[in-house]
Amino acid sequence: MADVKKIAVIAGDGIGPEVVAEAQKVIAKTEEVFGYRFEFEYGLFGGIAIDQRGTPLPEDTLAMCKNADAVLLGAVGGPQWDNNPKELRPETGLLGIRKALGLFSNIRPAVVFDCLKDASTLKPEVLEGTDLIVVRELTGGIYFGEKLRREGPNGQEAVDTCVYSVMEVERIARQAFEIARTRRKKLASVDKANVLETSRLWRETVIRVAEDYPDVELEHVLVDNCAMQLLRRPSSFDVIVTENMFGDILSDEAAMLTGSIGMLSSASLGEGSYGLYEPVHGSAPDIAGQGIANPVATILSVALMYRLTFGYHDAADAIELAVKEVLDAGHRTKDIAVDKNKSIGTEAMGDLIVAAIRKLQGN
Ligand code: NAD
Repeated sequence: MADVKKIAVIAGDGIGPEVVAEAQKVIAKTEEVFGYRFEFEYGLFGGIAIDQRGTPLPEDTLAMCKNADAVLLGAVGGPQWDNNPKELRPETGLLGIRKALGLFSNIRPAVVFDCLKDASTLKPEVLEGTDLIVVRELTGGIYFGEKLRREGPNGQEAVDTCVYSVMEVERIARQAFEIARTRRKKLASVDKANVLETSRLWRETVIRVAEDYPDVELEHVLVDNCAMQLLRRPSSFDVIVTENMFGDILSDEAAMLTGSIGMLSSASLGEGSYGLYEPVHGSAPDIAGQGIANPVATILSVALMYRLTFGYHDAADAIELAVKEVLDAGHRTKDIAVDKNKSIGTEAMGDLIVAAIRKLQGN
């Protein structure tokens, strides 16, 4: 019998609870099929926590996450909190939880499923074989640097400061090289070294770390060029590593290669095996409560959790295969359906994936 692993579950706002419920059905099925055992704890976070507890990240939620082996998060945010002061905004909770849990990297796979090639706005032949991972630095850079407003010679000015230390660059570079090693052994380090001092430090550090990974082919790509190449030759990328803001933008661009943000999983990792797993999408307030959200991104985030935190590769393979089989059979939620009248809802998609999970031969 496997050890009992603790998962902290934070459903959040909007479609968060709807998609997390389907992911939990999938976890329950893998417990039954593979004999893995999980214990769940539930916490408030984001907008719902602001309403009920007066803060986006209550202390007991943070303590619960620290005490768990992994965190499963839905999504947070919504228009009702958009005009709140900074400390009462759901996004402040997101930045806070990543920092408090020491999660310094965000891993976002972008895999184009063959049967969904037509859902993308790019030509199928350009997408053929696309299977890449964006590794984004998560706790440094301009999002965390000093911010201020002041009076300047031409009236009011605003300043955002971008800071990176060698240590911050080195640890994310190592993680990216390690991931590249388990894949096609190609790493693209993305920066703006022709203009930014932080990027020059980034590049120098990545080159130094590369000496420990002679088996991984390293290329340096300027961020503007990378934005173009992702649309022109996406299948040539394997692992992309970049700083916080560039990664935020490029990973959303990579998301669009797959046709829908509802398909994309993510992991935020620190040192060791601890991780927070969540779909790339937000709380989608425009479709919340309608039962039409695509739960696949959250379900694939569970597969990532099994791989990166627990090492349960058999169950991760089974989830990924089940998703593929359900899609290959033509089942679609509205966001990825060509004929919107023939789409299925969130629960039906979850149930089909659960039904398709089985032990694979050879595992
Ligand atoms: P969003 O990802 O919530 O939605 C963008 C579009 O994609 C919407 O049209 C939405 O309906 C659609 N969509 C997203 N997920 C989907 C799914 N699973 N199935 C089907 N369609 C889906 O981004 P947004 O509209 O920019 O943000 C909405 C709120 O979410 C904001 O408050 C934002 O701050 C928050 N947000 C939170 C996170 C997070 O929790 N990590 C990430 C991004 C945005």
